[in-house]
Amino acid sequence: MSNNIPKIVVVGGGAGGLELVTKLGKKLGKKGKAEVTLVDSTHTHIWKPLLHEVAAGTLDSHEDEIEYLGQANCSGFRFRLGRMDGLDREKKQISVAPTLNQEGVEIIPRRSFDYDYLVVSVGSISHDFGIKGVREHCLFLDTTKQAETFQNKLLQAYLRAHTQGKPLHEGQLNIAIVGAGATGIELSAQLHEVSHLLTAYGLDEVNPQDVHISIIEAADRILPGLPENISDATLSELKNLGVNVMTGERVVEVNEAEIKTESGKVVPAAIKVWAAGIKAPEFLKDIDGLETNWMNQLVVRQTLQTTMDDDIYAIGDCCACKWQGHDENVPPRAQAAHQMASLVAKSLIHRLNDKVIPEYEYHDYGSLVSLGRYSTVGNLMGNLSRGSMLIEGFMARMMYLSLYKMHQVALFGPFRVVMLSLSHLFRRSVHPKIKLH
Ligand SMILES: Cc1cc2nc3c(=O)[nH]c(=O)nc-3n(C[C@H](O)[C@H](O)[C@H](O)COP(=O)(O)OP(=O)(O)OC[C@H]3O[C@@H](n4cnc5c(N)ncnc54)[C@H](O)[C@@H]3O)c2cc1C
Repeated sequence: MSNNIPKIVVVGGGAGGLELVTKLGKKLGKKGKAEVTLVDSTHTHIWKPLLHEVAAGTLDSHEDEIEYLGQANCSGFRFRLGRMDGLDREKKQISVAPTLNQEGVEIIPRRSFDYDYLVVSVGSISHDFGIKGVREHCLFLDTTKQAETFQNKLLQAYLRAHTQGKPLHEGQLNIAIVGAGATGIELSAQLHEVSHLLTAYGLDEVNPQDVHISIIEAADRILPGLPENISDATLSELKNLGVNVMTGERVVEVNEAEIKTESGKVVPAAIKVWAAGIKAPEFLKDIDGLETNWMNQLVVRQTLQTTMDDDIYAIGDCCACKWQGHDENVPPRAQAAHQMASLVAKSLIHRLNDKVIPEYEYHDYGSLVSLGRYSTVGNLMGNLSRGSMLIEGFMARMMYLSLYKMHQVALFGPFRVVMLSLSHLFRRSVHPKIKLH
């Protein structure tokens, strides 16, 4: 360890990474027991499960984003901007690509950071499975920028339809979402709500019925990763909203005007969203001998240390961690990233104090799917429900909202979260319910 102060570098300040550096900064950084550094490719953090609301325009990303430099300043860690693209395990060094501005001019040169302990928490991106036309013609919801691009495109389509003075052509306001996981389902319900709000806010040449929302899913039911009773309850809500749900349909090609499936179906759509599966970022695939799986995820042991290197941990969506007692890995969810961040914080503090390090066990508290103002559906797991119990309505909504509140509490503490929630309420009372530019 250099200068006797261990260097802890965390790459990726998302649902897991930002909670981790906040904890480590407060427990070690502020006390001078370690130098804690966060490296992220963007300046700000937004909790990813909010991105479908940003895409629909029901949430302004600027309201809920957190500046890394500000969080670092009050939590005892350092923030360094940049995209990690390499690793030298022998030198214990990560390398970070040059940062360019919007005009493509280099503002920060390539640089490297030394570590004694490294935590990789770079999340995931959408997996297009190499299907023809997906990258070129679909929108994705992996980053705030992509969600904002979607919102712009949606608004422009509305404005065009509102002012064109002639009937809409076939598929002009069709939106097709590929993937009926939580992201696709939640987005479809938000878009339904938005179509009514935009008409109410004056784009009234467009009838909400002119907006056709389709969901295309390869599995034989929606929400294939969740219990069947949740799929059934959600499907009936979507049918009430008039969302066209197609299951058992594998997409084979996407072009500018339509989506084609293996069975020969053709779905015309002006706006196409890809939300069907994830993988970890490409740069992890062959990164200095660390073990990865087919989704580029770093394979970790129950301690969340990578299989090849005790000093490198991986948490959240970018790690493959065995789910004890199950045939599958821990699912890529915000609650898993949150739990892993807590475990690695404890593990690193124990290591600095020569104590035995803990092992991770995933606690599945259930899953909730928000259908915007219409409903929330989900299941509760564990002692409270003795197994899995379906919940719906107000109770489910409150639990859904509490997930984000828990993330905020981990970052700001309970008092500031109450203040934030109040200010959010006041803001909502004077601003439109939807972003209109
Ligand atoms: C639209 C949407 C809705 C979702 N809804 C839910 C939900 O309701 N419930 C739920 O449990 N989960 C949900 N998820 C999944 C959940 O958001 C993820 O499981 C969770 O965010 C994973 O956390 P993470 O810390 O692993 O990564 P992320 O939160 O994705 O953070 C990754 C961070 O790494 C940074 N980064 C990436 N590459 C690099 C690099 N090379 N160098 C430096 N920094 C880098 C990124 O900028 C980002 O800040 C949703 C996801 C999406 C996209």
